[in-house]
Amino acid sequence: MSDGRQDAIARAWEEVVATARRTREEGLVVGTSGNVSARVGDIVLVTPTGVPYDRLGPGDAVGVDLEGRQVLGGLVPTSELPLHLAVYRGSGARAVVHTHAVHATAVSTLVPEVPLVHYAAALLGGPVRTAPYARYGTQELADHMLAALRDRTGCLLRNHGTVTYGDSLDEAYDRTAQLEWMCRVWLTASSVPGHSPTLLTPGQLRDVQEALEGYGQPG
Ligand SMILES: [Zn+2]
Repeated sequence: MSDGRQDAIARAWEEVVATARRTREEGLVVGTSGNVSARVGDIVLVTPTGVPYDRLGPGDAVGVDLEGRQVLGGLVPTSELPLHLAVYRGSGARAVVHTHAVHATAVSTLVPEVPLVHYAAALLGGPVRTAPYARYGTQELADHMLAALRDRTGCLLRNHGTVTYGDSLDEAYDRTAQLEWMCRVWLTASSVPGHSPTLLTPGQLRDVQEALEGYGQPG
């Protein structure tokens, strides 16, 4: 392996660990639930199973190829590896974040699609779908997820959590944070007795998406 490639892998691993720690510090996961990955060329760096994120150091990098064969490190990759690999095989994603964020997970038990309470849905490509339930770590769950991600950069997994991806770990993380926040807004608005939230129409959301394409970040 060339020095340049080794440096790129070392930097990406540092970002994977920092992002995994951030999911815990900012309350998106409890303990080591949830997992984070980044792609460098044909290698996917991914958090290992069962190791607290604050114990992961520069020498602990775990890498697999796109078929899931381990090519780097001695720790065992996350059991959610099929989810991560399915995203990379099916898109140009450079990073994937999977969490059990509390409000998003609660909403995953209630609806097949996150109600359009806010135009932040445009940041995820449109109304966010809930993938049907399948056991964690299975190809069946990965298949359900891929269908829910069509034309989107994030989805909910029923009775489980969230998956988002992006061109960088910061972008994937931000999409998870926006999704969790939007689910929290809907739950908050829905919990006022005698009222139900007004929702945006698909046309109003499309209007936001067009504005985003023209002007960058929403206000
Ligand atoms: Zn999970």
